[in-house]
Amino acid sequence: MKVIIDTARCNGHGECVIEAPDVFDLPDDSDVAVVREESPDDTRRAEVERAAAMCPVTAILIEG
Ligand code: SF4
Repeated sequence: MKVIIDTARCNGHGECVIEAPDVFDLPDDSDVAVVREESPDDTRRAEVERAAAMCPVTAILIEG
C-alpha cells in the first residue's frame, strides 16, 4: 500500500493524524499534513482507510 496526500487539497485540520498518528503528521508550523510512512504494511490498512474516510476534502489517496 502506498499513501499520498494531495497537498493542494489538504486544509490541515488533522483528522488523519487523529486516526493514524503513525502514518500522518501535522507539523507545528504547517497547515498541510505530511505522510510519515509512505508505504505502511497491511496491519495499518484499516486505520489508513479510516483516515481517508474522515478527511473532509478527500485529500488522502491509497494505492495498492
Ligand atoms: S484529514 Fe485531510 S485535510 Fe485534514 S490534515 Fe489530513 S489530509 Fe489534510
